[in-house]
Amino acid sequence: MSRKLVVLHIDGVSADFLAKALAAGEMPFVQHLIDAEGYELHRYRCGVPSTTPFAQAGILYGDNIEIPSFRWWDRERSVVVQFGAGSTFKSVADKYFQGRDPLTRDGACIAACYPAGAADDFGIAYQDRSYGRQAKSRSAASVLVPYLANPIHLGDWVVQTVAVLARTAKDYAIARSEGRHPARGYVAVDVVEEIFVHHLTRYAVQKAMREGYSPIYGAFYAFDETAHAFGPSDRSAMHVLKHVDRTIRKVASVRGEAYELLVLSDHGQVETTRFAGARGRAFGEVLAELLPGFRIQEIKGADYGPPEDQATGRVRVTMSGGLAHVYFDGRRARMGHTELTAQHPDLARAVSGLRQVALVMSRDGGEDVFHVRGEEIRGPRIKPLLAAYDDPDILFAQLSRLNSFQSCGDLIVFGAFVDGKQVNFEDQAGGHGSIGGDQLHPFVLAKKEWEIDTSSVRGAHELHPILSRLRDRLAT
Ligand SMILES: [Zn+2]
Repeated sequence: MSRKLVVLHIDGVSADFLAKALAAGEMPFVQHLIDAEGYELHRYRCGVPSTTPFAQAGILYGDNIEIPSFRWWDRERSVVVQFGAGSTFKSVADKYFQGRDPLTRDGACIAACYPAGAADDFGIAYQDRSYGRQAKSRSAASVLVPYLANPIHLGDWVVQTVAVLARTAKDYAIARSEGRHPARGYVAVDVVEEIFVHHLTRYAVQKAMREGYSPIYGAFYAFDETAHAFGPSDRSAMHVLKHVDRTIRKVASVRGEAYELLVLSDHGQVETTRFAGARGRAFGEVLAELLPGFRIQEIKGADYGPPEDQATGRVRVTMSGGLAHVYFDGRRARMGHTELTAQHPDLARAVSGLRQVALVMSRDGGEDVFHVRGEEIRGPRIKPLLAAYDDPDILFAQLSRLNSFQSCGDLIVFGAFVDGKQVNFEDQAGGHGSIGGDQLHPFVLAKKEWEIDTSSVRGAHELHPILSRLRDRLAT
């Protein structure tokens, strides 16, 4: 019998974190799927950078080339490309995914970064916080109005919002009283929006199922946002998974005979410490000292160095979690290592010597150039030093692939692990985007009988053919 497919994307949950939540009894429905419905938990590698736009493009299109981060500088179009509030991906979207076969072709792709060939996004393109802008989208109102018109939905949402807000306030107070510093900017506003969008997305996924779309891809970000605010090991992050579990159960309840369900994540999270923590200087400030005369502009941060009209040059730094790209201004192409060293002989070495930095990467023709603790290391000779983060052969291949992207900064900077915490360039208590720990190891929850093998998946783009085959096999 032909079956339809619904895929739920749970942002930011690593395979190990999910296993921990199951062991703690926080996800009873997922436990039921494993115990009674023949599901099993798979690990896979999302690749580098461990960010949503990169991993989700890989999953949906099998192609994430030239997506070097959560935000980056497009030299050709002179634009900061970013997701989240004020997304600008559409200004470069025509360069991407040509000739690809999207996972959700003719299906429904709800609250994802990309349209992915879907016939409908049900008015929710979550990542750019725009509702109903896709050409093929129905209006947001056509989803919102019936959702809000149902007093059960409204009641459910209000009750949960009040409950989560109260708990968030309590968690915030506890965290502060224990001397921890949750990322304030993330806390209240995002939590409210997350719950609302989470509920709306769940409603839209169920609606898409009732209307018979296939495949359906629905993305849920509440865990990721909460873990950014409090850190993944905080109790509030674990709490949110309870709501996620309930959402999985509610979606599963409309499967009937028609649908098969698969649940996955895109990357994990790690505890972070801020680059400029403990009265330290911001990364841009450090760069301004290393590059006298240059105006340093942190994207999503401050400006440093002399005023614009007195500066001899300009540098943009795009920061995404534990990863930073450094771009010298006024160039149409990425600067090679030789030219970089000719102009700024000590820059890569000095940045790599900072205690907050694990690794600096640049490119010399076809060769990868690394700087670690002030020392230059070329090509695969870096491998022994990568063993602290993951399998060194695999990580080297992942880094080398990222380093081949023209959209990367002239220098790529990875945050170090200091006292067991990843140095983050953004103000977040939990983060990802870089290398090391849980952030590189997301999960797929699938039925054993589908015989999915993700053990050799070294990047989210390699998950695409596996999911596409499953979609096609179920449909016949
Ligand atoms: Zn995130």
